[in-house]
Amino acid sequence: MPLPHDNPMPSYWLSFPSDLSKHRTTEELPQEADVVVIGSGYSGAATAYNLLQKDGGKKPTVVILEARDACSGATGRNGGHVLPDLYFNASSYEKRFGPRTAEELTSFEMQQVIEVKKLVDREQIDCDFELTRAVGVFLDNRVAAPTIAAYKDMKARGYQFPDDLHFIADPKKAEQVSGVKGALAAFSHTAASVWPYKMVTHLLRRCLGWGANLQTHTPVLSISDAPDAAGRWSVRTARGQIRAKKVVVAANAYIPSLLPEFGDKIVPARGIACRIAVPDGGKPAPHLNNSYTIRYGPQEYDYLISRTDGSIVVGGAKQKVLLNDANWHNNSDDSQLIPGAAEYFDGYMQRLFHGWEDSGAQVTHIWTGIMGYSSDLMPWVGELPGKPGIYVLAGFTGHGMPRILGCATAIASLVRGDVQYLSETKIPPPFWITKDRLRMKNNIAREYMAGSRPSL
Ligand SMILES: Cc1cc2nc3c(=O)[nH]c(=O)nc-3n(C[C@H](O)[C@H](O)[C@H](O)COP(=O)(O)OP(=O)(O)OC[C@H]3O[C@@H](n4cnc5c(N)ncnc54)[C@H](O)[C@@H]3O)c2cc1C
Repeated sequence: MPLPHDNPMPSYWLSFPSDLSKHRTTEELPQEADVVVIGSGYSGAATAYNLLQKDGGKKPTVVILEARDACSGATGRNGGHVLPDLYFNASSYEKRFGPRTAEELTSFEMQQVIEVKKLVDREQIDCDFELTRAVGVFLDNRVAAPTIAAYKDMKARGYQFPDDLHFIADPKKAEQVSGVKGALAAFSHTAASVWPYKMVTHLLRRCLGWGANLQTHTPVLSISDAPDAAGRWSVRTARGQIRAKKVVVAANAYIPSLLPEFGDKIVPARGIACRIAVPDGGKPAPHLNNSYTIRYGPQEYDYLISRTDGSIVVGGAKQKVLLNDANWHNNSDDSQLIPGAAEYFDGYMQRLFHGWEDSGAQVTHIWTGIMGYSSDLMPWVGELPGKPGIYVLAGFTGHGMPRILGCATAIASLVRGDVQYLSETKIPPPFWITKDRLRMKNNIAREYMAGSRPSL
């Protein structure tokens, strides 16, 4: 299982680098810390932030280790869409976990949109955060019909979808509301868009202000198999080792190289996104006030945010990505594009959106990034059974933005000792790391991505 690639391509977000990108707080690596956090993406940064921001008491010493530039993993190369899943996977969640847990999963994600907003407001983060309405548009009946049927059936049985969710059944209205050509139906609900790299580097900067030590370009090579007699784990890097009683592993897709327990639980999955803009002098296109998912088939979809500068960031291109497993599955090379994806995004807005036909809109930036796909499609959050003091939050399966803040807040409370168990937090039980879950052998990530709806 490889470490992050040495030479990743820049994304649009990363093309405005922060002065933290190559930051090392101290020349030498500290030898001791209360907490070592591995990974400086959203998961690592938000955990460190939550560990340190609490008023009162002595702040723990926190060292954040990052293999490459700060926040240059999936968080620095994603679609910027904080999109709670309020309906699309609800029926499979209901089948797998029962209606109450399915509702809990949905409302957790919905609440995360508000929590991110509160964080941005409280910290006054300059990160282009916008509260939007996400419109989920269906262009193909193979995916529209079962989704709508499940929604109606569940509603009739008393399943509690959030009140904010609005269903548009009439194709004419769906096309009118969304602006997407050929829409068959649509759902809409509150979501958000953000410049993820700016948000997360702001959190890292706050942590440094509270005394954290950030060490970029310091890949962790291993974590000891057991703690020493004083209960400290050894975190080994090429620049030396650090001993700490608590280690938070927020290394996303790369976690199996550090914790073999996750060898068959989290697999790297390469995704692609791009930025599209109307060139200077081009015909102005209508501003999109919504963010989107656009579904073309059972597993073919794109997700899209509209930025206040008029540009669009869109990710997905599953029609190309899924053509060949080698394009994405177990692929951690974010130095290369996915074949056919650039052509796919060519003329994208003109093809799909009313009013954009003569805009001349074109791709300005295109990039890949590595997601961590979970074997049962649920993130892995909590203290590792049998390894007291090792905490994990990873495997967000391409859907971290409406989940990570809450998970990081919970991990920080565990690490600080404010709570003993995740059951005392808001984290839905399917996310918890348990012995039983770690023992499960099924891996449905590939099958799910390839279009079927496997059940565990
Ligand atoms: C193209 C693309 C588009 C996406 N779009 C969206 C979207 O619109 N909405 C959404 O919700 N989600 C999206 N995602 C998923 C989202 O980006 C992730 O869920 C989220 O960023 C995960 O954050 P993280 O901090 O866990 O992982 P990362 O951001 O990947 O951070 C992990 C960090 O750990 C570091 N690391 C790894 N191994 C080591 C090691 N051994 N030593 C030290 N450091 C190490 C990595 O270098 C990396 O910086 C997208 C992902 C991609 C790739």
